[in-house]
Amino acid sequence: MASYDLIVIGSGPGGYVCAIKAAQLGLKTAVVEGRETLGGTCLNIGCIPSKALLHATHALHEAEHNFAKMGLKADKPEIDWQQMLAYKNDSIGQNTGGIEFLFKKNKIDWLKGWGSIPEKGKVKVGDEVHEAKHIVIATGSVPSSIPNVEIDEKTVVTSTGALELEKIPEKMVVIGAGVIGLELGSVYRRLGTEVTVVEYLDAITPGMDAEVARNFQKILTKQGLKFVLGAAVQGVETKDGQATVTWKSRKDDSEESLTVDTVLVATGRKPYVEGLGLEALGVEMTERGQVKIDDHFRTNVEGVYAIGDAVPGLMLAHKAEDEGVAIAEILAGQKGHVNYEVIPGVVYTHPEVATVGKTEEQLKEEGRAYKVGKFPFLGNARAKANFSAEGFVKIIADKETDRVLGAHIIGPMAGDLIHEVCVAMEFGAAAEDIARTCHAHPTYSEGVREAALALGDGAIHA
Ligand code: NAD
Repeated sequence: MASYDLIVIGSGPGGYVCAIKAAQLGLKTAVVEGRETLGGTCLNIGCIPSKALLHATHALHEAEHNFAKMGLKADKPEIDWQQMLAYKNDSIGQNTGGIEFLFKKNKIDWLKGWGSIPEKGKVKVGDEVHEAKHIVIATGSVPSSIPNVEIDEKTVVTSTGALELEKIPEKMVVIGAGVIGLELGSVYRRLGTEVTVVEYLDAITPGMDAEVARNFQKILTKQGLKFVLGAAVQGVETKDGQATVTWKSRKDDSEESLTVDTVLVATGRKPYVEGLGLEALGVEMTERGQVKIDDHFRTNVEGVYAIGDAVPGLMLAHKAEDEGVAIAEILAGQKGHVNYEVIPGVVYTHPEVATVGKTEEQLKEEGRAYKVGKFPFLGNARAKANFSAEGFVKIIADKETDRVLGAHIIGPMAGDLIHEVCVAMEFGAAAEDIARTCHAHPTYSEGVREAALALGDGAIHA
């Protein structure tokens, strides 16, 4: 039996980052992971493989639509699906291997197997029980389905199966117009699949700034995705490798169905806490099956903490990472903290969509006086030259003080651009601070500056 200052259960972005930070701060640390490779959902079956497929299919789109315009003449690229999957697997391998290297470098033990907490201060992995002063649950989440839909990961798949399809489907229904549905829907649309997205609500990407969501839907529609909104999926029936999806309109109760080769169920995720022994240990859970924590990540059981997708809040890798850092700092006697007001969200379609802070809808509800500065990428030289002039930057600031309250960007590299606004928000900056900062020309980031200028005397190029 080994003894540790900290045992982290789960090696996803929350868990592995927590472990590295703890080791850096001098804690003797181990991580329990039952998967063959480190990195959790994000690296193995989530963020990284989906980004690899988005990258490959975006390159295909460029070749098909923009190469000739730039004088690059070639035959239409042929799709070798097996090679594309191999490329995706290679990018997984490089990243999971990287975490293994970092564990060795930081002298973190990998306890291979599935862990449970038989009692306070103990973690069981296989037949071995290890002692730990502190235990952090970082076990993440798994896809959650809806009634009357049986997942077989072949014809009716979650994001996991969608990253490994045997062949490119001719027709696909995506249930749910959230981040997973739109990212993977985009991948298959670019590969030639007829994609129909069926969404319960009347808008795509729930919670996103409404103006951005509308624009986003228009752009995706232009790319060939079909949307059925305000439609509740009733069930999926499979027969001979085909699936029939039935939905009911929420407006008039009329039913419709569509038969396709693949159905992607992207209706959200739920915490993965099975097998940990939390019930026997007496760990309190929320009604939604999340581990209940206080504002220092403590469960009601002494020495047991939880972070990431297993606890309430946004299910985002980077939110989990920040929580991992904060709890490691707290356990090392420092003052760890996460600013939940400044957590960016990104959809990695093309164009990308990125948001941080308040939406107009939230501010209206709060009754806070605000102003909006907007700038279209059509006025950005670099975007025009790169066939990327769709979308805009929208910055929202306090009407009186000019303090930046949020930003919503749809456009090229939005997921990178948003961080300038995140930093500004962390410093409590005014929009004028962004506007007065010199931005290199020609870059997409000038769009952010112009939106900030639009909150003052006006943008230059609009
Ligand atoms: P989601 O919660 O973002 O979206 C699910 C959608 O399904 C919602 O719009 C919901 O209204 C709809 N829906 C639910 N039941 C339905 C029904 N019966 N019929 C039709 N529509 C229905 O969930 P997701 O896209 O599965 O993503 C899961 C989690 O993973 C999210 O928290 C997401 O933020 C996270 N994630 C993030 C990224 C990223 O940051 N780029 C990528 C992938 C996943």
